[in-house]
Amino acid sequence: MRTPVIAGNWKLFKTINEATALVKELKSLVAGTSGVEIVVAPVFTALSSVADEIAGSGILLAAQDCFWEEEGAFTGEVSPGMLKDAGCSYVIIGHSERRQYFNETNGTVNKKAKAAIAAGLTAIVCVGETLAERESDKTFTVIESQIMGCLAGLPAESLKQIVVAYEPVWAIGTGKTASEAQAQEVHAFIRELVEKLFGKPHAEAMRILYGGSVKPENVKGLMSQADIDGALVGGASLKADSFAAIVNFMA
Ligand code: PEP
Repeated sequence: MRTPVIAGNWKLFKTINEATALVKELKSLVAGTSGVEIVVAPVFTALSSVADEIAGSGILLAAQDCFWEEEGAFTGEVSPGMLKDAGCSYVIIGHSERRQYFNETNGTVNKKAKAAIAAGLTAIVCVGETLAERESDKTFTVIESQIMGCLAGLPAESLKQIVVAYEPVWAIGTGKTASEAQAQEVHAFIRELVEKLFGKPHAEAMRILYGGSVKPENVKGLMSQADIDGALVGGASLKADSFAAIVNFMA
């Protein structure tokens, strides 16, 4: 019922030429794939070139962040409408690296999500606990406040433009993946919360991705869990063969 999404977050890697070469290779490796939404998120400067390269391929484009205003005196920012103009259909918001290094908060994620929705983008809203929070039994409290804060005030019908990514901070780029059971437990909790906030049909329709050291070897087990609807992939998305193997997890 929920179409899986496999999204590659290329972070601060790849020049324009490298990004277009990567997506060109990916395109040929996933040409026969169906039933999965494939998303790539290059740096801002490579968005337009990657958009040209993926035109007609079915691969979708995401940005890694956006601002909440559409235009104005906000030096250095990029608006959701501008991302749409560059060919994006998705934008990642609230990645833990942005929370950690750039003071992103649930409040700013909320403003960005609303602006992204208004511009017609789908927002991939990232949540996740740190190791210290997990070890002090605060995982569910943290996730609850992130979901409540990030999705506050959204009209229920806009939820179809929201994808949540559960990314335990301790699993990002560390090689430590959450176990299937650990991930499923939090995904089910997020879906229950969304049901309380927006009702069952919206909760059942919403895609919840897992992120944190997803690789070709562990994707199948994660995707077999009832509430895991895809993956947000960092390191393993930087090579076409490993990302394609993750995309083709059903093969
Ligand atoms: C990410 O950047 O969102 C991520 C999950 O990274 P990695 O797959 O490298 O852990």
